Amino acid sequence: MSVADEFVERRMLKFACHECNHPAQLITKKEKLGDNSDSSEKFKIELTCPRCKATDSFILNDGSEGVASTSENTESTPDLNKVL
Ligand SMILES: [Zn+2]
Repeated sequence: MSVADEFVERRMLKFACHECNHPAQLITKKEKLGDNSDSSEKFKIELTCPRCKATDSFILNDGSEGVASTSENTESTPDLNKVL
């Protein structure tokens, strides 16, 4: 079971919305971008706020497994252990 297996469309990630500060966002898309040198897979994760419908995204396994990029619309990095 890898970190990426937790990131499934329609699950929620506890990561505050950059528009309305709602505490969790819906995972709406998981797109494979390629393979890392540690043999993990790199993904783009798209998020949508269930309250105001604002969208955000980040890179999961950014260079190596378990590393998240900062999100597109914030200076924050999602905590990968907070998939609900
Ligand atoms: Zn929102």
